Amino acid sequence: MKSKYAVTAETFMDVYKYPQKYAIHPFRICGNLYYVGNTSVGSHLIDTGDGLILLDTTFPQTYALLINSIWELGFPLYDIRYIVHSHGHFDHFGGTQQFVALTKAKTFLGAEDAKMFRQRPELMLLRDCPYSYLEPFTPDVELKDNDTITLGNTTIRAISTPGHSPGVMSYLIDVRDGAAHYVAAMHGGAGFNTLNLPFLEEFNLDVEKVRKSFIDGITRLEKEHVDITLGNHPDQNNTVGKRGGMCDDPACANPFIDPQEWPRFLAGIKKRFSIMLEEEASEAQKA
Ligand SMILES: [Zn+2]
Repeated sequence: MKSKYAVTAETFMDVYKYPQKYAIHPFRICGNLYYVGNTSVGSHLIDTGDGLILLDTTFPQTYALLINSIWELGFPLYDIRYIVHSHGHFDHFGGTQQFVALTKAKTFLGAEDAKMFRQRPELMLLRDCPYSYLEPFTPDVELKDNDTITLGNTTIRAISTPGHSPGVMSYLIDVRDGAAHYVAAMHGGAGFNTLNLPFLEEFNLDVEKVRKSFIDGITRLEKEHVDITLGNHPDQNNTVGKRGGMCDDPACANPFIDPQEWPRFLAGIKKRFSIMLEEEASEAQKA
């Protein structure tokens, strides 16, 4: 039986057929950090003062939306110098090859996901992607735990948080808004579609090891102070709802700035994870 945590091609069929339904106008989250993703999968843009960093390139079929979002903010595509990926699943690198062709940007991916592309390409989950012609790219930089990426006035710290895929990287991003500095952070892979038992068994992955690494990653991230919680899928941090709550009056509080959200978000992942394990245990008892 398929796990209720599974994601299938049907899940993405609507995005594939009608990508325009998932379009939203891009917007400034805070200072030099912008949202350029759609309502299904996230993408963020950072204006470093010395070129742009793009964080994930969404699905292959939403590539045009992403390009439009970047133009709509007034940024030339050709200013993208770095493309940094949260992990090597097709919904996060779908537009990468086209962006590289247009911009010659340097690409970054967790080293273990680069290895996954070479040795276990089936784990990039292309079978769940209705557009089946996507190919893995060769990253210019294979990121390791605690690596930093610096461009212009921006430094991003990569923290290895494997589990959802072998090379998931979570990012701590220093954001500037005038004289103010904030830390924005993204968990690079929080979905259980690759952590449920049927998936791990089907792909012959080490259940204990993969799950332990996932929880260890959360525990590490809990130690970080974070002002702005980002999602590599917008439902993780209610991107769209918060956007609706923003107002132009500078006296309004920015709903994205909330130091309590990060610990709450991580605790929520842990809670849902333990519920999944309990469900598995009770299923096993029934069988
Ligand atoms: Zn994924």
